[in-house]
Amino acid sequence: MGGMRMRIGATVTAVVLVVAATGVSSAAAAPDKPGQPRYTAGAVGAGDAYFPSSGNGGYDVQHYDLAVTYTPPAAAPAPLEGQFSGVATIDLVALQDLDRFNLDLRGMTVQSVAIGGKAAASVAPPAPGATVDGAAFWHVQDDANRVWELTIQPRPKIKTGQTVRVVIGYGGTTTRPLDIEDALYGWVTTRDGAIVASEPEGSMTWYPVSDHPTDKASYSFAITVPEGKVAVANGTQPKPATTTAGWTTWYWDAPDQQASYLTTASVGDFELRQTYTSASGVPIIDAVDTKLTPQRLATTNASLAQQPAMIDYFESQFGPYPFGSFGAIVDNDSVGYALETQTRPVYSSQASQGTVAHELAHQWFGNSVSPERWQDIWLNEGWATYAAWMWTERTGGISTQQAYNAWYAPARTPDYWALPIGDPGALGLFATQVYNRGAATLQALRVEVGDEAFFAGARLWLERYDDSTGTSEGFQAVFEETSGKDLDGFFQIWLRDPVKPPATWTIP
Ligand SMILES: [Zn+2]
Repeated sequence: MGGMRMRIGATVTAVVLVVAATGVSSAAAAPDKPGQPRYTAGAVGAGDAYFPSSGNGGYDVQHYDLAVTYTPPAAAPAPLEGQFSGVATIDLVALQDLDRFNLDLRGMTVQSVAIGGKAAASVAPPAPGATVDGAAFWHVQDDANRVWELTIQPRPKIKTGQTVRVVIGYGGTTTRPLDIEDALYGWVTTRDGAIVASEPEGSMTWYPVSDHPTDKASYSFAITVPEGKVAVANGTQPKPATTTAGWTTWYWDAPDQQASYLTTASVGDFELRQTYTSASGVPIIDAVDTKLTPQRLATTNASLAQQPAMIDYFESQFGPYPFGSFGAIVDNDSVGYALETQTRPVYSSQASQGTVAHELAHQWFGNSVSPERWQDIWLNEGWATYAAWMWTERTGGISTQQAYNAWYAPARTPDYWALPIGDPGALGLFATQVYNRGAATLQALRVEVGDEAFFAGARLWLERYDDSTGTSEGFQAVFEETSGKDLDGFFQIWLRDPVKPPATWTIP
């Protein structure tokens, strides 16, 4: 998956193509004279209404190489804090003539920045409009306003289309970061290591990043931990772990395009299992905490044993598995959720079969095709919930129509129906309606357009936006293409109307 990839959809691609064809900058950085660059600062955010300072503008990250050394907390009653030091090597390409640009980084201290091999000086944040001399960096951490921005001023400045390597040395004491809903996320320190699950913008708690799904990149990892601990990240191991003087370094390589919230590097007392592959040859690597209770271990083992059959089934419905590997990280330190971290979902405490099906389905819906704006979250959670309904039907349980009917029948409060799942708000990203009304939307769509157009649409959606991002509007357009129907009214009812949909799609 190497090479240059554009950040988002057709708009940005078109702008860049114009630049390439004419040598003239885009309107955002209009030249004073034709052919002369005009250097400006990259945008502070990616433009997401829910998380305005997450992600950044002006460049496209190609690759993150993350070298981390981590010491987990000592035994209780020592504080639940780890010691972290990292070197992030980031290859990015400028999308405009850059005077300066930002990365997101929260709760860490930056020790050094080098751009193109040249060291930058650490300076205090300048006043608005003030200039800074020479290559420099400064870090603003405004917890109250949820603004965490590392600004880098390269010298020489960077021209549109130029690729540069940024090397950042950083570190700090890790704790247990909270998301906008005060739920644990990011690099969550646990007694035996760390559990790392960062949706929507928690990756900035452990590496400098353009923390928005519109800037996907490939990753490589070298994670050094005390001998005996196991570090598990996305992808596969390009070489065996090495141990020197009581420290073990674990290497992981994730060559597929990956949204930042799907990056993990969990540390713990894991048993690493590499025992099976799907029928199509996808290697499955599981990491299971050696301290699970016998009951949770039994549940987990039974669920993980279904992974090859689940991959086979979803491939038959949705097309080829989109990445080079799969598996699970099952920790016994409960943060209360699972997350579809790319190629290797994280499960806290145990992995149930329905949750494994859900997180596997996300590899197609959410990971291969990611939300272009966080308001499009139903495209992730509706599909993953619906695919788990399909797996239930496949394995002899109730049909997807019966699951829909069971969701539709009960009386619910007006509050439940009032949430528009097509724009649930930053505090509504993980509301139950996003999952259940989202899945019901897909069953209703299937009834509306018929099985053939429904599954053709699912595949066209995945092909069209593979390794990229999509919106609800793009999704509607795909199903209008495969069905030949105008679906304005349908999606208005299901995604936006703040009331219970009519009984049109209930089939007894
Ligand atoms: Zn999910």
